[in-house]
Amino acid sequence: MKHNCFHLASVVLLIVLLTCLLLLSSCGTEEQYIEPEFQPTVEHFLRLSHEANKNTAPFLNIREIVYKNLAYQQAEGLCLVMIRNSKIKATNIKVSRREDRFVYVDTKWKGKANIVKYILYHEMAHCTFNADHSSDPRSLMYGQIHYEIGPEEMLANYLRDGL
Ligand SMILES: [Zn+2]
Repeated sequence: MKHNCFHLASVVLLIVLLTCLLLLSSCGTEEQYIEPEFQPTVEHFLRLSHEANKNTAPFLNIREIVYKNLAYQQAEGLCLVMIRNSKIKATNIKVSRREDRFVYVDTKWKGKANIVKYILYHEMAHCTFNADHSSDPRSLMYGQIHYEIGPEEMLANYLRDGL
């Protein structure tokens, strides 16, 4: 009987281990790389968002927040959402829809701290809140860079009024 119990325990342990592996490979525990220079801006964005009681769950799907040459896109920044199917082999029937998100800032803005911050806030709002563009030129989500209103004020306005 003792031998059987031990065997059962091993099987349970094996199942637990396999479950952990499956969870690791199918849930949002993948790596996230943030350009070190962006780290304080991203942390600030998240802290203010939490204070404003915003749901930031999609942030976990962001895999990269980095500089990228976007000349071919004619964009100053980008929030890219890629949807892919992943099969969980254990059952072979369950197909889960997964998303990977990427935040890019055009490399040409390197060294222009204020503009980089503005682009980061704008793209982070796309990728974290699924925010659409606004037609209001004073909005953080207006499709063009502002030079009149600072990025901090714009983010604060957006979080407070959705502007
Ligand atoms: Zn945009």
